[in-house]
Amino acid sequence: MVLQNSALLQTQSFINNKWVAARSGKTFKVLNPANGAVVANVAECTEAETEAAIKAASKAFVLWRKKTAKERGALMRKWYELVMANADDLALLMTTEQGKPVAEAKGEIVYGASFIEWFAEEARRIYGEVIPTPLNDRRIITVRQPIGVVGAITPWNFPVSMITRKISPAIAAGCTVVIKPASQTPLSALALAWLAAEAGIPEGVINVITSTDAAGIGQMLTSHPLVMKISFTGSTKIGKLLMQQSASTVKKVSLELGGNAPLIVFNDADTDVAVKGTIASKYRNAGQTCVCANRIFVQEKIYNSFIKKYRNAVKALKVGDGTEAGVQIGPLIDEDAVKKVNRLLKDAVKRGADITVGGEGHGLGKLFFQPTVIEDCTRKMTVFSEEIFGPVSAIYKFTTDEEAIDLANDTEYGLAAYFFTQNLNRTWHVAEALDYGIVGINEGIVSHAEAPFGGMKESGIGREGSRHGIEEYVEVKYLCMGGL
Ligand code: ADP
Repeated sequence: MVLQNSALLQTQSFINNKWVAARSGKTFKVLNPANGAVVANVAECTEAETEAAIKAASKAFVLWRKKTAKERGALMRKWYELVMANADDLALLMTTEQGKPVAEAKGEIVYGASFIEWFAEEARRIYGEVIPTPLNDRRIITVRQPIGVVGAITPWNFPVSMITRKISPAIAAGCTVVIKPASQTPLSALALAWLAAEAGIPEGVINVITSTDAAGIGQMLTSHPLVMKISFTGSTKIGKLLMQQSASTVKKVSLELGGNAPLIVFNDADTDVAVKGTIASKYRNAGQTCVCANRIFVQEKIYNSFIKKYRNAVKALKVGDGTEAGVQIGPLIDEDAVKKVNRLLKDAVKRGADITVGGEGHGLGKLFFQPTVIEDCTRKMTVFSEEIFGPVSAIYKFTTDEEAIDLANDTEYGLAAYFFTQNLNRTWHVAEALDYGIVGINEGIVSHAEAPFGGMKESGIGREGSRHGIEEYVEVKYLCMGGL
């Protein structure tokens, strides 16, 4: 990997705008999932460095919150511009540690940067209110103030955008942050923090702790009295644990957790639009996103025409090292991911599913998996209830709208759902009946900085992006002015 701006490749934690090695001197390896090569040896930090970062963030909060919203916004705008100016390098860095095709990585950089831009603007719109008084001798006013130090824990599947989606509203509101990125993908996080410092964001406002001891760092962040808020994106299992741990000091929590997205193709759908949207939703990041279509329900009358085109579209997907031109499907993140896909496929086939495209590993290497389609799926299969997180389309046939809605909602998750139809009545009826925080209608890619992203049920708490995103990082304070 050769970067134009070599300062973007950093390997130590970032505290007070300085690179910090682990006190133990230990490091851990970051691997390229496409070929297993060691990309970097990164500081293996512990609770001690995490506490130093929390203290730095707490000290910085005093000054950062006092800046005007316009001042904070202007620094964030500079950060946004630096991220965009370095987008090619950041994309290459991401592909090298994460595996996704470089064009997709670049898309994520632009999407990730859009949160910095959006919240730089939103900083100036954190309004309070004047409320009509019930008593003439007093006035009721509210102000919205930054909550304080934020602990952010992020996953490997979107190494940049999951971070900017949290940091941007936090620092726009006047909060400061300590981030623990996934140990598979710390390099993107460090590069982002470096660019923030280059943009002039003061020391202590953004701190990054690199470590493989997620449990230890998580425990420190969720129990430390100086941390006021935990923002997490990852599995429902770890989200529940962090919520429990945060209870000891009653921290505010935002959780973006797992999904089990239904995607429904109704008889009256435009087949080409449905095929295109389903491929986009299912195969992005090799199927490793929490909003990937996990269960594809196709109505009886459109089934044959849809599936013929869909199988061909899946067969045409190009698998390879993400840095090669035209590659659409990169490797999975690690061997556990491959094992999971194999386990789900085996269970589905045992219970009657038919593999019609792919179905096994790919000759390119042990982390590559063929884009796969399985048909005749049923509720009894594990693939119905578990997130696949791989390039496998599980297809189910259905007859009535009621059946489709019942199937779609039959899960403890409630993040994203999709459906394809050209009928207006059906559009409203189905959109309102789906128990999901995000609904894509005739569209498979729905994330935007301007729109609220988040889940219902066990998919999470809170929303990221949009004007709602800032709410997670402010407290409403009520001022009662009496004796008037
Ligand atoms: P994934 O399947 O995406 O790896 P995880 O929920 O395991 O989902 O990981 C998401 C993030 O949570 C990563 O940064 C990971 O290091 C971190 N994490 C994993 N276990 C814990 C834990 N016990 N406490 C805090 N963070 C954790």
